[in-house]
Amino acid sequence: MQTITRLDMLRKSVAQLREGGKTIALVPTMGALHEGHLTLVREAAKRADHVAVSIFVNPTQFGPNEDLDAYPRQLAEDSAMLEKEGTAILWAPEVGEMYPDGFASSIAVSGVSSGFCGADRPGHFDGVATVVCKLFNQVRPDIACFGEKDWQQLAVIRTMARDLDLVRPFANGIIGIPTVREADGLAMSSRNRYLDAKNRAAAATLPREMREAIARIEDGQHVGRTLAALEDALLGAGFSSVDYADLADAQSLQLLDQLGERPARLLVAARIGGTRLIDNMAVGGS
Ligand code: AMP
Repeated sequence: MQTITRLDMLRKSVAQLREGGKTIALVPTMGALHEGHLTLVREAAKRADHVAVSIFVNPTQFGPNEDLDAYPRQLAEDSAMLEKEGTAILWAPEVGEMYPDGFASSIAVSGVSSGFCGADRPGHFDGVATVVCKLFNQVRPDIACFGEKDWQQLAVIRTMARDLDLVRPFANGIIGIPTVREADGLAMSSRNRYLDAKNRAAAATLPREMREAIARIEDGQHVGRTLAALEDALLGAGFSSVDYADLADAQSLQLLDQLGERPARLLVAARIGGTRLIDNMAVGGS
C-alpha cells in the first residue's frame, strides 16, 4: 500500500494503477476506522481492480461548536488495517493540501440537504459535497462506496453527481453499502468511542426502538403518534435530546405522514452524554 499526502504523487500513482485498463474504487473516510469502514473497503474490492481509501478529517463539514479538534485521529492504526485489506492507495492529505491558500469554492446541493442533519448542522453538507467532489476529481475513481449509515449524505452525493454530470464516478457508480452494526444493534461509528459504559449500553435503545416503531408503522399504526412514542422511549432511556425522528421518502427525503407506495426510511438523530448519534432504517420492506 502506498500512503500518499501530496496531490501530484497521487495523480502519478493513480495513473500507474490504471495501466492495462484496471479500475479503481474510492472509499472516502475520516479515519478512526472500524468494521463499518472495512466492510466498505471489502465491498469496493469486489467491484474494482484496486481500492483507494481517503482519510481526511474535513474541517469544512464541522460546525463551530462541533468535535473537529476532538475527532479521533489514528493514522498508524488505520494504515495497518488498510494494508491488511489489500488497499492500493491510502490518500491522506493535510488540510493545506486540500484547501490551499485562496481556496474559495463550494458546492451546495439544495433540497435533499435541507432537512434532518442539514437543518441541525448548517453548512455541513456544503462541506461534504465540496470535499467529496474534490476527492472524486483527485482520484477519478470508476466507483465510490459510501455507507447507508449516512443516508442523507448518500442522497446528497448522488444528487451532486447527477446534477453536475460527474464522469468519474458517474452517478450510478456511487454505491451504497448497508449499515454495519454492533452485536446489540448499534450502528458502528467513530463517535461511539465517546460514550462511557452506561451511555454505550443505553445507546442500543436507539436501533431497538427504531425497529419497534417500524413494526408499528408497517402494522398501520398512526405515524405521528408512533414517532412521538419513539422520542419518549429514547428520552426515557437516557438520551438527552432527539434532534429528529422522522419518516421520509427514501430518495427525495420529503417528510411522510403515512406509508405510501414508494420506499420509505425512518431517520433519527439523538444525543446521549454529549454525543450525537444518527441511524436510519428501511420501512415497508423497501
Ligand atoms: P466517516 O469516516 O464517518 O466519514 O465514514 C466514512 C464512510 O464510512 C461513510 O460513507 C460512512 O457512511 C461509512 N460508514 C460509517 N459507519 C458505517 C457503518 N456502521 N456501516 C456502514 N458504513 C459506515
